[in-house]
Amino acid sequence: MAQLILKPGKERSLFRRHPWIFAGSVERLDGRARPGDTVTVLAADGKALARAGWAPESQIRARVWSFDPEAAIDHAFFKRAVAASVARRAAIPALRGQEGVRLIHGESDGLPGVIADRYGDVVVLQLTSAGADKWREAIVAGLVQATGCAAVYERSDSEVRRLEGLAPHTGCAHGELPSGGLSIVENGVRMEVDVVGGHKTGFYLDQRDNRLLTGRLAAGRDVLNCFCYTGGFSLQALAGGAKSVLSIDSSGPALEGARRNLALNPQLDPSLADWHEADVFKALRNLKDEGQRFDLVVLDPPKFAPSAAHAERAARAYTDINLFGFRLLNPGGILMTYSCSGGIGLELFQKIVAGAARDAGVDARVLYRLSAAPDHPVGLAVPEGEYLKGLACQIG
Ligand code: SAH
Repeated sequence: MAQLILKPGKERSLFRRHPWIFAGSVERLDGRARPGDTVTVLAADGKALARAGWAPESQIRARVWSFDPEAAIDHAFFKRAVAASVARRAAIPALRGQEGVRLIHGESDGLPGVIADRYGDVVVLQLTSAGADKWREAIVAGLVQATGCAAVYERSDSEVRRLEGLAPHTGCAHGELPSGGLSIVENGVRMEVDVVGGHKTGFYLDQRDNRLLTGRLAAGRDVLNCFCYTGGFSLQALAGGAKSVLSIDSSGPALEGARRNLALNPQLDPSLADWHEADVFKALRNLKDEGQRFDLVVLDPPKFAPSAAHAERAARAYTDINLFGFRLLNPGGILMTYSCSGGIGLELFQKIVAGAARDAGVDARVLYRLSAAPDHPVGLAVPEGEYLKGLACQIG
């Protein structure tokens, strides 16, 4: 097995159990390794520290599979790791009975570059690192064994694969997708899941608890849901007893999906829902000009800042939508605002939202600090995993 020798001092992050080895930390590779091969990681003084997957094309040159430098990284290793990850979800009471659950959340579950989401009988797998890509078969076998699922569908078409020198890879890795399409019930609301063409693995599972909270806050209120995608927040708001829900997204197909989802839920009154295809930045201004007001505004935009380098431009975009979000609220109204940008931390996000409230001339306080649901845990050693943050702020 090839040996990756670190530069002096660069072993420190491994002592903290951080699994990434950046290109700048690598002194040299002794021996030969192809992309995805397992290498033993050594400190500059020769002490063996870990076993990691080698990714010569990536800035993250290696990702640690095990901090035991003698661990066998083989079929059995992945079967055990997948089973352990699935068992951790089963041990969380709040996840029991959920049909849509993230089973493997990459680094936080000790499996860098591996995402697996279960939608009923189907597991959708996304591999984003060279090491993970190499162990596809073992990971699929582990998922089938641990879940008894009917199908594993691979959605390895994320942009980040390019950084690892990997081409897209999609299709059934086990079994077949159900012919009539797929849907899940999330907290009483049925939602279609397009595992082949939808965002991420087909659905935003990370917002599950926050959608439920929106439902709880929506009773008797006029709700505005911006960046609604297939209507997750909108339908929970209706289920929670909202007086009306206006939902905005720039994607026609997403709104068609949202309408289909509403139709899947005969318990919800479609006459209370309006769907508007528009750019949120423009739509918010128009609503303000028309003198419209809401009691609850949800802002769940796409990632404006994929990395810290984009933070400044992203901050302006967040300021803009939050400013209008606050301006559109009735007294006593609540703004639920999110950022899923890895490049914007919670502290910065709160500053941005505070600035928007000040510019809007409102007095606001935080009712809830929000994050991803517990099937998207954050490894304590890997704070970068904390990408989704949200604030529910009440004004007046
Ligand atoms: N809240 C959703 C997920 C939102 S994903 C859920 O819980 O499922 C982000 C959405 O923003 C996508 O549907 C995308 O089409 C939409 N979007 C991106 N830029 C936009 C813009 N400028 N105006 C309106 N919608 C936009």
